[in-house]
Amino acid sequence: MTTGDTLLELQDIDIALMRNKNTLDTMPGVRELAKKRAQYRTLRAEAQKLLGARKDLEIEIADLEARRTHTEDMVTETQTGAQNLTDYRAVQDFETRLSDLGKELDKIDFALAKKRPELDEAQKQERKVLAYMKKFEAAFKAETAQVREHAGDLLSEREKLEKRRENLAGALPADVVERYERARKQFKGLAVEKLVGNHPTVCRIALQPSSMGDLKHAGSITECPYCHRMLVLESSSDSEE
Ligand SMILES: [Zn+2]
Repeated sequence: MTTGDTLLELQDIDIALMRNKNTLDTMPGVRELAKKRAQYRTLRAEAQKLLGARKDLEIEIADLEARRTHTEDMVTETQTGAQNLTDYRAVQDFETRLSDLGKELDKIDFALAKKRPELDEAQKQERKVLAYMKKFEAAFKAETAQVREHAGDLLSEREKLEKRRENLAGALPADVVERYERARKQFKGLAVEKLVGNHPTVCRIALQPSSMGDLKHAGSITECPYCHRMLVLESSSDSEE
C-alpha cells in the first residue's frame, strides 16, 4: 500500500468512526434511558420523602396513644385515691384534677382523630409510589437490556475501527499525519481527495494541463490547487513502496 492509499483508508476509517459516534449519540433508546434514569431518581426521592412523613406520623400517633394510656391511668388513680375524701377543699381539688385530666383526654383524642386519617393517606400514597416504582424498574431494566444489545454492536465496531486507525496512522510519516489532522479539522472530515484522470474526487474541478504538469514534479501527496485538500496522485501507486 502506498502512503496515499494508507492516507485514503485512514480517512475512510475516520468517516466510519464519525458515523458510528453519530449513530450511538442519536440512538433513540439512549436518550430515552437517560431521561428515565432521571425520572427514576425523582421517584425514589419522592418515595423517600413519603416514607419519612409516614414514619413521623407513626411516631406522633404512638406518642399520643402512650399519653392517652398514661392519662387514663391517672384518672383511675385519682378516682381511687378520692374514694374516702370528706374534706370540702379536697373534694374540690379532686374535681378540678379530674376535669383537667378529662380536658387532656379530649385534646389527645382530637389530635388522634386528625392524625390517624393523615397516616392512612400517607400509607396509601406511599404504596402507590412504591407500586409505580416497581413497574418502572421492570420496564427500565427491559429497555436497558435492549439498548445495550444494540449499542453493543456499535461499540464493538468502534473498537475494530479504532484499532485499524491506530495501525494506519502508525504506518504513515508523522508529517503526513500532522497535515491530515489539520486538514481534517479545516474540511470537517473530508480532508483528502484522489486524482482520477485530471479530476480530484472531492471538488471535481478539472485540473488544467499546466497544473497537471506541475503535479508531475510533486510528491505522491500534494495539495489540490482549487480546494486545497490533500491530493493523492493516482500515478504514485505504481512508483512508491
Ligand atoms: Zn480539490
